[in-house]
Amino acid sequence: MAELQRQRTRIATMHDGVEVAALAQIERAKALFRNDHFVGNSGAHLPDYFHKDWLYRSTRATEALASDLARKIAIKGKRIPEVDVIVAPEKGAIILSHLVAKYLDRRFRQECEPEILSVYAEKEKDADGKDTGRFVFSDKRLYRDTVAGKKVWLIEDVTTTGGSIERVIELCRGLGAEVLGVGVLWNRGGTTAEKLGVPEVISLIETRLPAYDPKMEPCPMCNAGTPINEKLGHGKKYMETRRAGATEALRKAHDASM
Ligand SMILES: [Zn+2]
Repeated sequence: MAELQRQRTRIATMHDGVEVAALAQIERAKALFRNDHFVGNSGAHLPDYFHKDWLYRSTRATEALASDLARKIAIKGKRIPEVDVIVAPEKGAIILSHLVAKYLDRRFRQECEPEILSVYAEKEKDADGKDTGRFVFSDKRLYRDTVAGKKVWLIEDVTTTGGSIERVIELCRGLGAEVLGVGVLWNRGGTTAEKLGVPEVISLIETRLPAYDPKMEPCPMCNAGTPINEKLGHGKKYMETRRAGATEALRKAHDASM
């Protein structure tokens, strides 16, 4: 028992070591902004923000993280040698997913064998250019044939609720593809394989960052009167909506007093 416990502790420490090193890479790339007041993709208010565009400025950090994620997937992924195609859920994750595909291909395929390909899904736009909430493989890229009926693995850079990933899993399955798993650089909301309905989710970083849904719970930064950061994340859109709401309320109050 004691030996088993020691082994478990050793594995946990090793894992923590990889995670600590990955976070250090992100810090070194100056891609983590701390102690401010951000609005995330899901509308949650966040004191810390992972600005992945600044990670991707650094080819060293990006390659190191992609290599570590690929290694973890190669070691832990039960059916990873069978994978035909790596899919990025959106354009934002292309750099990472492409590198992971490259490292997995090197590891599992000989030159004479078909290589592991790398493609991406996109947010569908309506005629006015607005997001429809659905994801597609663009017609003009002819990626649908690359994914149809194949064994695929999704690679996402950061996820909180897993919502986008879920929709892209459905998209792939709609084409008859088998989704063998999902790899995430930073799984900051604890998204699980069970939640996504896939055999496995392998994440390089699982550290959770604080997030407050202002509809559900008080946000300490709102309470402290910290202004919303409108430069990063969805703060600008959030403030525009709030300002529009305040103007509308003022107009109604004015109309009622007439
Ligand atoms: Zn707030």
